[in-house]
Amino acid sequence: MKIKFILPALTEAKSPYWRPIKYSLFPPLGLATLAAYLSPFDEAILEDEHVENLDLSDDPVIVVIQVYITNAYRAYELARHYRNKGAYICLGGLHVTALPEEASVHAHTIFMGPGEETFPQFLNDYRKGAPQKRYFSPVRTLEKIPPIRRDLIKRHLYLVPNSIVVTRGCPHHCDFCYKDAFFEGGKTFYTQQVDDALAEIDRLPGRHLYFLDDHLLGHQKFATALFEGMRGMDRVFQGASTVDAILRGNLIEKAAKAGLRSIFIGFETLSPANLRSSNKKQNLGKDYRKAIKRLHDLGIMINGSFVFGLDDDDKDVFKRTVDWGVKQGITTATYHILTPYPGTALFKKMEADGRILHRQWDLYDTRQVVYRTINMTPEDLKAGYDWSYEQFYTWSNIMKASLAHDHGKHMIKHFAYAGGWKKFEPLWNFIIKNKGLNQMLPLLESILSKVRYKKPHAPGAQASIEPIPKINIEAISS
Ligand code: SF4
Repeated sequence: MKIKFILPALTEAKSPYWRPIKYSLFPPLGLATLAAYLSPFDEAILEDEHVENLDLSDDPVIVVIQVYITNAYRAYELARHYRNKGAYICLGGLHVTALPEEASVHAHTIFMGPGEETFPQFLNDYRKGAPQKRYFSPVRTLEKIPPIRRDLIKRHLYLVPNSIVVTRGCPHHCDFCYKDAFFEGGKTFYTQQVDDALAEIDRLPGRHLYFLDDHLLGHQKFATALFEGMRGMDRVFQGASTVDAILRGNLIEKAAKAGLRSIFIGFETLSPANLRSSNKKQNLGKDYRKAIKRLHDLGIMINGSFVFGLDDDDKDVFKRTVDWGVKQGITTATYHILTPYPGTALFKKMEADGRILHRQWDLYDTRQVVYRTINMTPEDLKAGYDWSYEQFYTWSNIMKASLAHDHGKHMIKHFAYAGGWKKFEPLWNFIIKNKGLNQMLPLLESILSKVRYKKPHAPGAQASIEPIPKINIEAISS
């Protein structure tokens, strides 16, 4: 049986105003995970519209489409196309789980929540000729999941083909996050067996890994065992955590020893009132500066995430937040306009208060204002958001933030990483066009590699990082 898995392009990914590199980072792991449940007699095809043109001339028996809020209309269009050709249509993902009534109109079967239990059950039912219209799984486990079908991933099209997820969900409950809506009705945070996670890591070539887990440090026991198991594997990796987990115990030191070199942190806001109103309790009263210092001392770069437009924000929030990030030496910043995703507590609150402006889902991309603001106009919010990105990534601010580190080599790493990520768009576009993104991986690994001191942390100690490898641009363009 021929089964096609599709990740349709997010609307913003096709906009001329947004950066192609942002959408060529990670392969669609979720779909490759589901493909692992097929039988050896099935034929699987995986297409990701962010990095390739879809082949719409084929005739699969089943089409499985992953739906996010800003690709929902494209997903429904693709569903219509294949339905007209006689295929059986399955839809799943965050948007389907949040709005099952909307999605079910476009599919024979929809999946709500995680699919590790329900997709194999569907396959079984389908083969018996009795597939259900909806699948929802209260059972949440990652035990005995088959190895992800990484053979279906076109590695050369991604900057970070070695992305990996070893947990599901998160222990926290922020009002604006999709997580609670997606995992409703079962466990909202669970992990793989440590041995399975280590085996998956072992199967990945090269050194670099990117953990896409919402909170890699969220389960103390699991993360401790994982990082201990990874020591000696000679990996460099990136992941995400909360401020709170960085300040607690010595887990972050263990992560650094295992190879953690850069971390995504949801600071979200510098206002305690905003933290309280968005139920981001885990950040309340936490010393952001202390967490940053700890990470910098361990040589871990920081990608800070910030949300603008929470009700305690006024027009000064943009400058305050950008200046703070630069002063603290945050390497990269991700800014968002507050977005009430359907299914979240935030959406319910705003809907009850009559603050939702429209339901045009492809504008729910965290770059547009889709709700009624309180302390500033929607125009101010949008302009402030755009200004923040421009300001944070001026050369002078990249330089200033680099100088916040104690050691010269860390300053250079910061400068290379932030400048390389944000300031060489034509080069990234050239590399993407020539399908050579994967060739940039050695450079990324080198920038992320550990700074070594002759005498660790001694004043005046000399540091060195591994030499930056030469990138073969000719190979990329050939
Ligand atoms: S900590 Fe992050 S992943 Fe967890 S609920 Fe909050 S926003 Fe979502």
